[in-house]
Amino acid sequence: MKENFSAVPRRGFTLIELLVVIAIIAILAAILLPALQSARERANSSSCLSNMRQLSQVYMFYNEDYKGYLPCLDNLGGAGARNSHGEAITAKDWLNDLVEKYLRRAKANVTPVEVLFCPTENEKTDITTNYGINYLIATRGPGKGIKTYEFTTPSGTAMLVDNYGHLCYYGGVTNPAGKHATGSSYGNNRAATFRHNGRTVVGYLDFHVEARALEEVPCLEAYPGKSEAAIKNTIFNSGKRDDALETIDGM
Ligand SMILES: [Zn+2]
Repeated sequence: MKENFSAVPRRGFTLIELLVVIAIIAILAAILLPALQSARERANSSSCLSNMRQLSQVYMFYNEDYKGYLPCLDNLGGAGARNSHGEAITAKDWLNDLVEKYLRRAKANVTPVEVLFCPTENEKTDITTNYGINYLIATRGPGKGIKTYEFTTPSGTAMLVDNYGHLCYYGGVTNPAGKHATGSSYGNNRAATFRHNGRTVVGYLDFHVEARALEEVPCLEAYPGKSEAAIKNTIFNSGKRDDALETIDGM
């Protein structure tokens, strides 16, 4: 039997129907995209916290190995910087050496490069790391590290912050928009960035880590208008500071 297909006339979508469908898709996208972006950012924030936790472990292992000393990098990691051996070293090699020595030993499957970079930060090619070291704790002078007991409140003193460059400028400029300077400028590179839904990630001197908002970051606005010397007086336990502390073998 021959079916008569022409009995039901074929009909496409009208322009109005198509427009309605497109409008519905656009509305759904507008509703869902921010939620998806927020979810992705939460995942990035977790990864960033994980990175910071592992880097804090590196510092903790070093601290245990070297009688309470923190890793040393003098001259702010710039030209002519040296480690505790007095050896010339770049900030990049210094960090990579530390991660290689302590993190790979503890977790063989960790890729150092990933651990050193914030998942939200796109710029990963011309910089050392996205986790800046509080430069006040990086050295007490050429080839000399600092001991953790020299600080008044290790649990409230930032050791590492999520930022753009390899140093956190203690008491320096802030960067609340989460943007960073480009090129070789160090101005904003040294500030904490707040790229995780308005929060940054901080690793403290007692080796715990937290996501913090701008007003909660101890290394920046906690000391408005204070000079570097005044900030040092606040964070260092002056009674226990001893510039004659022995130098040690270390990085
Ligand atoms: Zn981050």
